[in-house]
Amino acid sequence: MIIHKVIMIKMHEIADEQDLNKGGLFDNRLGAINIWCSPEDHPDDEFWNKIKITKGALKYPREFIASIYFEPVDESLKKWKIKVEVTNYAKIEYANTLYRLGKIDGKEYDRMVEEARKGTDEEWKWVREKITWLINEAKKRGWYVWSYECPVCGKEIKILNEFFECLERHGYKVLGYVASSEYLGAITDKGIIEPKKVKKIVRWKE
Ligand SMILES: [Zn+2]
Repeated sequence: MIIHKVIMIKMHEIADEQDLNKGGLFDNRLGAINIWCSPEDHPDDEFWNKIKITKGALKYPREFIASIYFEPVDESLKKWKIKVEVTNYAKIEYANTLYRLGKIDGKEYDRMVEEARKGTDEEWKWVREKITWLINEAKKRGWYVWSYECPVCGKEIKILNEFFECLERHGYKVLGYVASSEYLGAITDKGIIEPKKVKKIVRWKE
């Protein structure tokens, strides 16, 4: 799955808001998001329908189920690949207990651990649903960008020349400009003219 950088940033933001300690199912990390399940929302398979998800040391009853990692597709860092790992640690623990109590043999133990490390079809389906939800929520969100407008006519200025051309059209004679990382102004025959800096909300377009 390949997503745009802005979607990844929003996914992290949503995961942070929907943190497992705030009653959500996510744990936001640097370059990764962990996904946990709850008694109300978990994969619909034999194991998850059977076990009781408890709080343990957490604020809410949760069990870890998957991690998603983001890897850049190329050096531009604009597109990111989502990698998913499903691991059912609760099942590994459960297999340990059953084996210790002599309720399963070594062969069954190995089978359970292998299944826990690979994930069941239902687990993968549930995890994919959560990722899709995160991506869709991320796409609904806008983000702020700064843009420049001509102070005379309000036309959006993408490059410096557009600003000068606009001013010439409005009857100014552009003599030069002053620019730094924080400031931009055109020197004209009628004084320095600054473009208008406006904060805009941009929404995701496919
Ligand atoms: Zn203009």
